[in-house]
Amino acid sequence: MRYISTRGQAPVLGFEEAMLTGLARDGGLYVPETVPVMAPEEIAALAGLPYEEAARRVVLPFLGDAFTEGELEGLIEAAYAEFAHAARAPLRQMGPNLFLLELFHGPTLAFKDFAMQLIGQLMQASLARSGKRITIVGATSGDTGSAAIEAFKGLANVDVFILFPQGRVSEVQRRQMTTAAEENVHAIALEGDFDTCQGRLKDLFNDHSFRDEVGLAGVNSINWARVLAQVVYYFTSATALGAPHRAVDFTVPTGNFGDIFAGHIARRMGLPVGKLVIATNQNDILHRTMATGEQRKEGVSPSMSPSMDIQVSSNFERVLFEAYGNDGAAVSAAMEGLASEGGYALGQGAWGWLAERFASGRASEEETLQAIFRAQVATGEILCPHSAVGYHVAETQQGANPMVTLATAHPAKFPDAVEKAIGLRPPLPPQMADLYDRPERVTEMADDLSALKTFIRETRRT
Ligand SMILES: *Cc1c(COP(=O)(O)O)cnc(C)c1O
Repeated sequence: MRYISTRGQAPVLGFEEAMLTGLARDGGLYVPETVPVMAPEEIAALAGLPYEEAARRVVLPFLGDAFTEGELEGLIEAAYAEFAHAARAPLRQMGPNLFLLELFHGPTLAFKDFAMQLIGQLMQASLARSGKRITIVGATSGDTGSAAIEAFKGLANVDVFILFPQGRVSEVQRRQMTTAAEENVHAIALEGDFDTCQGRLKDLFNDHSFRDEVGLAGVNSINWARVLAQVVYYFTSATALGAPHRAVDFTVPTGNFGDIFAGHIARRMGLPVGKLVIATNQNDILHRTMATGEQRKEGVSPSMSPSMDIQVSSNFERVLFEAYGNDGAAVSAAMEGLASEGGYALGQGAWGWLAERFASGRASEEETLQAIFRAQVATGEILCPHSAVGYHVAETQQGANPMVTLATAHPAKFPDAVEKAIGLRPPLPPQMADLYDRPERVTEMADDLSALKTFIRETRRT
């Protein structure tokens, strides 16, 4: 299996190299050159399997000869062993033909655990074989950082540094990053906001000699291996609802377009996905793109669903590459327009191509609160604000197929929003009940690139 860059100028890589590299050297994202297709009988055979077994069958064709089937089986088992639900990604019925896919039973209570836990296992296995070490540096507004720390803590060949904006993440999110005891984990509270953190991360990656010196690797959602891990739950949920014998619709709360892109890949693999609906909060650049045929930045206004508060949706580049018929130069031009002029027009062909494959909707802050309230009254289920954005949009998009909304985080991660909607604060689940008692360990730093480099050089294990 070969992976190519969406900008057409970076070397073609195998799965392991693409995973360990993250961002391509031409600034593009890696995508598989061809997408393997599963026959309807193979898809039907996934119904009712344990999650891990379904994952092995879905993921294997993308890995080339990177891992044997036996190796992969062990790594997937290890990845999902800490999940607090035996089904890993259970479905819950919310109304006639309306379902919720609960993706928040992992160790940090958000769907990012599905990808991060698997990528941690795959990277460690690959590095152990080659004897190499890597340094993972990530910037986070909350969920990604804690998922990365949980996934990489204690791994022998990996050191992990997570930058978060001091004072700007929720207490639960901060504690999830600062309470890991393992010595290869470093949470850094940086003076500034999320953009400051992302800016410093970019600076580190753009310093190619530093990048090579410490073996810098990225695990933000542009890493192809993360997208791949997320393809699995589209298959397990759709087959539970009757696929491949009938089509299933999905609504996906979207920020960086990683999770929904995984649904698109599932469909290309042969899964009968009917509608694939982009659900955005008030930061609705993707909904506006679908409505107007033009992608234009407008600035971010902080919402109750912070993990979807984005301006530039990095994984959208992957779908754009397809919409432009794999024309890397056209993608580069569009990304250049976004950076220098704040936007670009899709072009009629690409707009039509996208409209055939994706629907979209948005939820205002008020609609988000109402959706949390409605769901609780109707079923007792308490939604996090991200999932509520999805639920609101799903209700407006429901047709004849079963409609599945992806529930991306546990409500206890966002107690303020939930309390505002229904007047009670959801408790942390049992496996995390002592979070407030665990000692914290954090390094506070000014926004100073050379100090950051020195800290990473001196603290990583060699
Ligand atoms: C990351 C995140 C999202 C957005 O996912 P993308 O793959 O970036 O579109 C939605 N909800 C929660 C809770 C998240 O952590």
